[in-house]
Amino acid sequence: MGSLVLEKIKKSFGSVDVIKGVDLTVQDGEFVVFVGPSGCGKSTLLRIIAGLEEQTSGHLSIDGRRVDVTPPAKRGIAMVFQSYALYPHLDVRRNMGLALEQEGVPKADIERRVTKAAAMLQLETLLARRPAELSGGQRQRVAIGRAIVREPSLFLFDEPLSNLDAALRVGTRIEIAKLHRQLGATMIYVTHDQVEAMTLADRIVVFNGGKIEQVGRPMELYHTPANLFVAGFIGSPT
Ligand code: ADP
Ligand code: MG
Repeated sequence: MGSLVLEKIKKSFGSVDVIKGVDLTVQDGEFVVFVGPSGCGKSTLLRIIAGLEEQTSGHLSIDGRRVDVTPPAKRGIAMVFQSYALYPHLDVRRNMGLALEQEGVPKADIERRVTKAAAMLQLETLLARRPAELSGGQRQRVAIGRAIVREPSLFLFDEPLSNLDAALRVGTRIEIAKLHRQLGATMIYVTHDQVEAMTLADRIVVFNGGKIEQVGRPMELYHTPANLFVAGFIGSPT
């Protein structure tokens, strides 16, 4: 569960064309990384996939089902942002479970799912703390935990590590790779960090100005970039 098909997706804000016709198929369980310069439409495309933004034209399907008009909560998707707004007055346990509470999931079920996610993210000993009592890396793990408890078949990450310092970025990146193996869920991950892209991706999608320049396995892009633009982002420097 968690395959995704994008067909001829376009998005304009007023007269500005931001996404200019994107076709992409993501396989069930695949880890796909989006890269491309700032402003090329990566976040907008994630928001369209999540249902937080409506495409101007084109279609998307999840698990073979058209979701063009399906509301966000019914798409089986969880999104992790770079600015992980946690509720400061709630402890880690409630921050992680809040969305489930609001959906009316039974308490015992919430407890089970939060406990399981906390174990995966080494947050067991921090469940009673408030966000102010956590490090930046721990807070980002809570934000990831909040996504995991929803048991989505598709995770969307929008530059989740860009607020962390270098050492934490490496640790959290390894954590995310591990989660991908454990959960078997499909993951789409936006980053501007070439090392993250190369190490996490089954396939990398290089965007430029609202269009896909090239899609391929990391080593394919590295050794045989389609053009200078891709080479500048991913390719071998020679
Ligand atoms: P990226 O994530 O690749 O940096 P974005 O998807 O955030 O790019 O933005 C792509 C373009 O769309 C930018 O020019 C941005 O200013 C514009 N944009 C994004 N959201 C809106 C919006 N709600 N209204 C108007 N323009 C927007
Ligand atoms: Mg962005």
